[in-house]
Amino acid sequence: MFCIKRAAVILFCLFFLSGCFRGASEVTVGTESAAESTTALKQPVSTEDGETTESEAETAADVTEEITEAEEMTEAEEMTEAEEMTEAEEITEAEEITETEEMTEAETVPESATEAAPVPPAHNGSAPVPVPGEITYIDGILVVNKTYPLPADYNPGVDRTAQDALWDMISAAKQDGLSLWARSGFRSYNDQLWQYNVYVERDGAAVADTYSARPGHSEHQSGLAFDMNSLDRAFADTAEGRWLAENSYKYGFIIRYPAGKEHVTGYMYEPWHVRYVGIDVAKEVFEAGVCLEEYLGITSEYADATALEP
Ligand SMILES: [Zn+2]
Repeated sequence: MFCIKRAAVILFCLFFLSGCFRGASEVTVGTESAAESTTALKQPVSTEDGETTESEAETAADVTEEITEAEEMTEAEEMTEAEEMTEAEEITEAEEITETEEMTEAETVPESATEAAPVPPAHNGSAPVPVPGEITYIDGILVVNKTYPLPADYNPGVDRTAQDALWDMISAAKQDGLSLWARSGFRSYNDQLWQYNVYVERDGAAVADTYSARPGHSEHQSGLAFDMNSLDRAFADTAEGRWLAENSYKYGFIIRYPAGKEHVTGYMYEPWHVRYVGIDVAKEVFEAGVCLEEYLGITSEYADATALEP
């Protein structure tokens, strides 16, 4: 009896345990809701409890593995997708950046092209050849630079129109609370000869040529040029210097030797030196951001490389 009872208890326990496995397996599969795993689970079904328990335990283990695989695959797929999305996003971003850069460049190019491209010369012919003893005019504009000299006997004094314009400009600056004044204007051939020689003695001809004209090549001899306030590069950063740079064209003046045009004008930047060319021309030169040489399509170079000796 004892043995039968014991056997019955063992059988009962086995039956109970097998029920637990089956339930657990179903719950697990149901929870995961993986279609393939559910199919795999339903295949091995046994009627004998002992074997059933084992086989179902194995099945449960298989299912767990399959679920794990399924999860891993899913994760792998998801990772791949995530990576692909990330890559796609990155590509999109990269493309967008490229597009943005291209747009920026495209937007910038016309502006810089406008700034960089010199306006067509105002005159229609080629640059005139300088004739010794004669004054060069291009489209009515008197030209004097390293290429085009003035005759030694050209001695006009201060140009009246330029002087009136200078007075208007000084008055306008005064209205803005600024003190503009002309420290020098007309300079004769002989005055320039004396001054240039002083500079050559001090700095040598090569250096003097970068800031002082040889006699006959000074714009001051035309009576159309003025040096304002201070012969110092720092003048450009003063209120008066900035005002002059921004407003002088309204009165017919241009900053004759601008910064960045040294190789064209043949002179260092002179923020104080203005030249009267009339309001229309001054406005065009100012708005084009060019120097007078570029505006007229001419050079400014001495015929001989050797500077005059004192
Ligand atoms: Zn000057």
